[in-house]
Amino acid sequence: MTDIFETLESQVRSYCRGWPATFDRADGSALFTEDGQQYLDFFSGAGALNYGHNPQQLLEPLLDYLRSGSITHSMDMHSPAKRKFLETFQDVILKPRDLDYKIMFPGPTGTNTVEAALKLARKVTGRQHVLSFTNAFHGMTLGALTVTGNSMKRQGAGVPLTNSSKIPYDDYLDGEPSNLSWLERVLEDSGSGVDKPAAVIVETVQGEGGLNSARASWLKSLSEVCKRHDILLIVDDVQAGCGRTGKFFSFEDAGIVPDIVCLSKSISGYGLPMALTLFRRDLDIWTPGEHNGTFRGSNPAFVTATAALENFWADREKFEQQIAARAAELHDGLEKVAALAEGASVRGRGLLAGVVFQDLEAAEKIASEAFDRGLLVETSGPESEVLKLMPALTISPEDLARGLDILLDAAKTVVGERELAAV
Ligand code: PMP
Repeated sequence: MTDIFETLESQVRSYCRGWPATFDRADGSALFTEDGQQYLDFFSGAGALNYGHNPQQLLEPLLDYLRSGSITHSMDMHSPAKRKFLETFQDVILKPRDLDYKIMFPGPTGTNTVEAALKLARKVTGRQHVLSFTNAFHGMTLGALTVTGNSMKRQGAGVPLTNSSKIPYDDYLDGEPSNLSWLERVLEDSGSGVDKPAAVIVETVQGEGGLNSARASWLKSLSEVCKRHDILLIVDDVQAGCGRTGKFFSFEDAGIVPDIVCLSKSISGYGLPMALTLFRRDLDIWTPGEHNGTFRGSNPAFVTATAALENFWADREKFEQQIAARAAELHDGLEKVAALAEGASVRGRGLLAGVVFQDLEAAEKIASEAFDRGLLVETSGPESEVLKLMPALTISPEDLARGLDILLDAAKTVVGERELAAV
């Protein structure tokens, strides 16, 4: 019953190739195919389902809203649902963290918020150049692609990707000190040939690029260099934000305050498309309508986003502790997987973590074995050499342990087979 996908849908489709099933129902961390097979989900919609599938706390307000006859689509006009979301985001997220950001609704996807951030940075500074990092991933539209590293994705652009340079991410040079003093030097040196950029865009953990995780001290240095040279710092928190790495924003642990922040994926909490671009109040120099879009005001998404903040983030400490407990269990389980293979090691932060293997094929084989055993895990990194785990932040300890057992079993099969083949 997959004929129509193969005959009609473009071959650009990808996830369905590694997971050749037709998913129908979903509940929490469980996914069910239309023929009744059950899978445990350690993928979470690539980070769009941080609170699991169909969370009850969000479903009820969503259903109430839809049945009430309230407005669904409202461009950027006022609506009570948007008012409530803005008030809640201010009270639950911004104020307790002492953040004085303005909020912009770009189009509803991650790449939309990145485009808005890049445009604003260029408009504010009058400069064109943007620095981004090796193995960065920021989205598929042209502006976001220029700051993305992956060569296969970049080639898809079909035009030159200009006005951006790639600089080494933390630890890109394998243990060589990467304290950014070289960046400071080239910015100070009028003979360096490095144009002063409008902005630097960074992920605190590179979700797609292989789960490289920047140290807090490196992020702090980056923030300081940017400040000293009047360069805007954009943190792309599309994947690492909304609690994924332990706190609501992934940069909280580093004690930095970016000039611009990109959020999407789990901001609606329900998998409904929604994105935000946050920026320093004084950067809000947009002309009305200068950046717009039809789908910036999805009221059902405002409703679920508000419910997510109220239900999970209002008691911030409790939720952060819950995430930390699951993250510790996840990292323990990943250490066991890494111990199986020579040179393998654990990467990532919080519930955005995985294992990098020296054998470039191991991660994909393990993900495939895991799928056969009823577990969805994906891979990441330029050669798909990193097994990447993103269980729901709300996953039960039992489900997490069960998934990690499956993963260990799958890894033993793959690593064991390869060792036998080498004998
Ligand atoms: N930025 C980051 C850090 C991402 O991980 C992604 C998606 N994986 C995007 C931007 C793009 O988001 P979207 O796919 O919703 O356009």
